[in-house]
Amino acid sequence: MTRTRPASSRGRGRPLLFTDDQKQAYLKHVTAGLTLNEAAAAINVDRRTVNHHAQQDPDFRTARETAKKAGREARWENLPHDEYRYNHAGCRCLDCKAAARKGRAARRVDTTPDASPQTGPEPGEAPTVISLPNRDMRPDQHLHPLAAVS
Ligand SMILES: [Zn+2]
Repeated sequence: MTRTRPASSRGRGRPLLFTDDQKQAYLKHVTAGLTLNEAAAAINVDRRTVNHHAQQDPDFRTARETAKKAGREARWENLPHDEYRYNHAGCRCLDCKAAARKGRAARRVDTTPDASPQTGPEPGEAPTVISLPNRDMRPDQHLHPLAAVS
């Protein structure tokens, strides 16, 4: 297997452009919680260009790692404490624990996923139920109504 280096395969033109300003903007986006792809797209630079620079530039690579870590935390900060967070972020706060417990219990009960959805009557042929007032009841069969309270 021969590995072609991007630089030589593209001819010796100018290096893939990724200015310092763009780097700063990119890192800011990543720090704010964008994925690497989103951050690259946000500054209009091909992510391969970014990755190329990350390979060539240890400082940038380190900065990106730091930004990534911060970004991951920033992303979680915007999310509620729930079962998802319990499972994916390993949060063990009371809210997450309660949500996880509830989620597990719900799944245990709800094990039949829409097996027979058509049990009720068709909309057109619903039986018409007419409730007639019961005229046969004699007044003395009534329990005495609650004595006037007021
Ligand atoms: Zn939590």
